[in-house]
Amino acid sequence: MTSTLLNNMTNGHSLIMTITCGAAKKSIVPPHEFGDLYIAGYDAAEAPKITGLHDPIYIKAVVISDGTTKIALVSVDAIGLLRDAIEKVKERLDAWGFKRRNVFVFCTHTHAAPDLMGLWGPRLGVSGINKKYAFFVLDGIVSSVLDAEKDAKQVSIYFSSGSSKELIKNYRQPNDIDGSIAVLSLKKNKTTCIATIWTFTAQPEITARKNTQISADYPGIISARIEQERGGIALFGLGACGAQSPECCEQGFEKLDEFARKLYSAIKEAIAAETKIEDGPIEVREITGTLPVQNGNFTVMFKLGLFQRDMGKDGTITATLSKWRVGNLHVVHLPAEPFPGIFERVIEPVRDSGQHVMIVSLTNDALGYVIPVGQFRLGRMDGPTKWVDPVAKKDFIGHEDESLGPDTGRIVKYALWEIFTYKTVLAIGVHADDLTIWAGGTIKRLSSEGNKVICARVCDDWEDCVGVPKDEALKLNRSECDAAYKLLGASEILHLGYQSDYLGGLSGEEYIVLRAKIVRLIRQYKPDIAIGFDLNGNDEENMDHVIVARAFNEACWQASFDALYPEQFKDGLEIHAIAERYLFARNPTVTNFYVDISDFIDDKVKAVCSHETVMKNFFHQYRLLARANKLHVDLLEDPKYSDEERANLLVKLLYGDVGQKYGVRFAEAFNKIDAGLLKTLARDES
Ligand SMILES: [Zn+2]
Repeated sequence: MTSTLLNNMTNGHSLIMTITCGAAKKSIVPPHEFGDLYIAGYDAAEAPKITGLHDPIYIKAVVISDGTTKIALVSVDAIGLLRDAIEKVKERLDAWGFKRRNVFVFCTHTHAAPDLMGLWGPRLGVSGINKKYAFFVLDGIVSSVLDAEKDAKQVSIYFSSGSSKELIKNYRQPNDIDGSIAVLSLKKNKTTCIATIWTFTAQPEITARKNTQISADYPGIISARIEQERGGIALFGLGACGAQSPECCEQGFEKLDEFARKLYSAIKEAIAAETKIEDGPIEVREITGTLPVQNGNFTVMFKLGLFQRDMGKDGTITATLSKWRVGNLHVVHLPAEPFPGIFERVIEPVRDSGQHVMIVSLTNDALGYVIPVGQFRLGRMDGPTKWVDPVAKKDFIGHEDESLGPDTGRIVKYALWEIFTYKTVLAIGVHADDLTIWAGGTIKRLSSEGNKVICARVCDDWEDCVGVPKDEALKLNRSECDAAYKLLGASEILHLGYQSDYLGGLSGEEYIVLRAKIVRLIRQYKPDIAIGFDLNGNDEENMDHVIVARAFNEACWQASFDALYPEQFKDGLEIHAIAERYLFARNPTVTNFYVDISDFIDDKVKAVCSHETVMKNFFHQYRLLARANKLHVDLLEDPKYSDEERANLLVKLLYGDVGQKYGVRFAEAFNKIDAGLLKTLARDES
């Protein structure tokens, strides 16, 4: 996988962008009238009741925008927030123009703030969540983001990194210590900071186990100093924190200042060498999948309703890994607490190529530890690794008990590889609107995630119009097609120019030529993903689709045969094998894969509406069909409706139906052909 890891990583990002940033913060110290609250972080089910305030806790929000894409980054002084709570925040921010995937809420993981997960109640089986407080925090997140956005200024982004390994102890594997520091500075000018986002890997658990006072732990002290000295607002995110205890773990408030002082001097040293990141648009990627809940403790907590979070009937939960990027800066957000080993062989090659990587744990969910396969000890022949809990002074095998199970490490590691892999996508449609209708959301998602997309149209659409002469139809459909594919993010658009509706009449020889053209495109662009028509569609009455489905799918495997079309090698082309094919059909017989296009549905509608001439004929034909059936359909007949309105309705109804099947709002479904059996035969690289 690493061979394509950095493919295209620097493509298309040379534009000079104007980045703006605003920041805001809000205290989340609970008012007295909320009643009993419990400190979250240490022994579950016998959590201490909160009696006072040692230092303030906050929500801090930053909104960064490039004029087209805006993202919200929010740090919360809390142990963790589960996905279902974050979804409520996303729903509300969506109303303010924040795409769901562009909202990143991460908890600082202080072990001295009120429980927001439900695990730290007063007694076994009783949730520690005070609902008044939970809603107060969720409200605070939304209002902080909106406040931050109001205050946006033009900024430059700087990155710096450092290390402070000596401040961390790993009680499990003493040598496995991360200790890295990363700092992002969003600066209005040389001296004015709008926001500083910093990460370190030590768990914020310096406060004592029986502490009853609210505290933001070391992140609170350091963020306050950064704000004092640099201005603006400082946000803390937890780095690769699994099994990374602070050297004065649970030793209480006296030790906090000393720890913070040492760490702050390392942070200042790092900042002194900060460098400006490369310009570029904001790119957001996410990978959503499922993780098996293999840990009985977790299942019990779901059953008791202590987890305010849905678990699938198949014993899995949905998890999302995300990454945002500007130029050569990549910020990865994990929904859990990863061990440093999870990033081995993933991050180094990226950094080696001159890219900066920042890791932020506990974003948009809190799924426990992510333990590398090689370190997962429970249930193994060689038995669990016991280590002495230095505070309770007893043997402990805690991390496995606080993880979803042995498979999570492998799944997350592969997802990390995937999220750093930039691909080339070759999408081949027959008529102007085929790609837009059947795969438009997927193409837009792939291009917006920084992949290189090439869109090709085989036919010329001379007849797909009503009341327009041929020459004009050719011109209109071509320019409208260009506009649509541009909206979908195509970096190149190709028109093969075959006459529409005559492919069914191609001679055998002409078919071979069409296939050769597609083989040539594959060898030329070397796509990782090819998108096109499926041969397995039912009742396809358009022979153009059938012929191209044949030629395209044959070409997909023939492109890697060195005996086929050898004349192409003289032009410098080479054989090429395609990793994945996403195939669509009018009535598919096989759909084994879907792409969540919820965040891209409006882009898809907009692209569909670009095919003005085709749409006009499409609805005209629909109208004729309705009339032939003696049906009066207001939406088609009443001139008060525009074709845009009709298209919007139709696309959302159709792809909302597909989405419902997969439990998302909008989706496109495909027959995906990939490595198949090879995946189970391959050596596990995790
Ligand atoms: Zn078509």
